[in-house]
Amino acid sequence: MRLFVGLQLPARWREAMAGELAALGARGVRGRFTRPDNLHLTLVFLGELPSPQPVQALLEELACPPPFPLRTAPPGRFRRKGGDVWWLGVERSPQLLELQAGLERALRQAGFPLEARPYTPHITLARQVKSPPDLLDGAAFPALETTVRRITLFSSQRVEGVLRYLPLYHKPLA
Ligand code: ATP
Ligand code: MG
Repeated sequence: MRLFVGLQLPARWREAMAGELAALGARGVRGRFTRPDNLHLTLVFLGELPSPQPVQALLEELACPPPFPLRTAPPGRFRRKGGDVWWLGVERSPQLLELQAGLERALRQAGFPLEARPYTPHITLARQVKSPPDLLDGAAFPALETTVRRITLFSSQRVEGVLRYLPLYHKPLA
């Protein structure tokens, strides 16, 4: 199964982002918009693994920092050949970066093969976007804040053709 560790986002965050996505659509932006239920923040992408059990066992033992505040940051995009990825930024707070780095280090030490690319915290809003980037710059994303109290092991799967991220295990922060 296809696994990753990340953060679930509060309903009011997902609602605010869904509203902004609808506004982008109304302004003519075309792409594969993330379903509101699927809006999330990835910490570490694991990829295909036979079972979630070893990852869950590692998370159960992992020393984590205490709960900390999470805030949105300005939107941005990754340029891709088939159309860009548009995302909402997340503040690179020391607590978030420590949590992510500690998790990545523990997974590597346990032998999970992870990609080497540097971590860019972002919430994917839409993929395969071919619309002009000034439409993104002009979007009025509200500043959002929450407290992170747990991290979540997800499986990414297609159920009847619909992409879903299923929470499998929650690790509470210390
Ligand atoms: P799809 O691949 O079907 O278009 P998706 O990218 O949302 O949809 P997954 O590829 O299963 O679904 O990815 C799950 C999560 O992990 C997403 O947040 C995705 O951005 C992230 N992710 C996927 N591949 C990588 C990777 N190679 N490195 C870092 N993060 C990744
Ligand atoms: Mg993908």
